[in-house]
Amino acid sequence: MFEIERDPIVHLTNERLRRLGIKAVLFDLDDTLIYTSDMYIKHMDEYSNDLARQLNIDSEIVFELLDKFNGEEYLKNGANPDNWTTVIRKVGEELSCLDLAASLRFHIDAVYTDEPAVIPGARQVLSGLKNGNILLGEVTWGKMGWTVRKNCQTGLENFMDVIVPANIYKPKNGEDWLKGMNLLGVTPEECLICGDSFRGDILPALSLGARAIFITGEDNRNETRQEITTMESVAGFWDAVLKLK
Ligand SMILES: [Mg+2]
Repeated sequence: MFEIERDPIVHLTNERLRRLGIKAVLFDLDDTLIYTSDMYIKHMDEYSNDLARQLNIDSEIVFELLDKFNGEEYLKNGANPDNWTTVIRKVGEELSCLDLAASLRFHIDAVYTDEPAVIPGARQVLSGLKNGNILLGEVTWGKMGWTVRKNCQTGLENFMDVIVPANIYKPKNGEDWLKGMNLLGVTPEECLICGDSFRGDILPALSLGARAIFITGEDNRNETRQEITTMESVAGFWDAVLKLK
């Protein structure tokens, strides 16, 4: 902590934010501060491998069914762990193995009990900002219980002045971000938003009049526009802030 406070790049970044009039930085959680997609894929893979081995079929077949049915349920009900009951039943029906498919559910349930991995650099960024007296918020999409657990397990809650779980029955939007700003007592102009979803994080930020840094990762590079500040991961935060206009 002591070293972070004295790190010149952290000091410079906080100064830069202050000069831009930014009092608060709001983050998305999933795939911004913690690895979430990877966690889903890992446990869906384990489920697929186990079921495929017992049915003596290719695990890709199972994975594709899981993915397809999960996508269908998500469109109907939003992000809801209960969706897996239907998803697994449909996989069981499709492969004529209802009981076996249901008995392997524990692989999927592990998504909701495993400790998520914090993305390298996230804790340093949050702690550097906190030491610069910048307000910190998180606006994340998911059920309250799961959001609380992910924050507790990773210790990220200790950095946050406010955590807002977005309405899961709609895509994350400006209303959710505005709720975070209101709770922190800041205007959009006084905020910087960082997230990996162009539609859910970056477009709402810009339409509200906040600044934004888009986390492009490996997959999202094509989505961005030239005028938008980007970073590949949260570890690039300090450099990205220096590019903000
Ligand atoms: Mg995300």
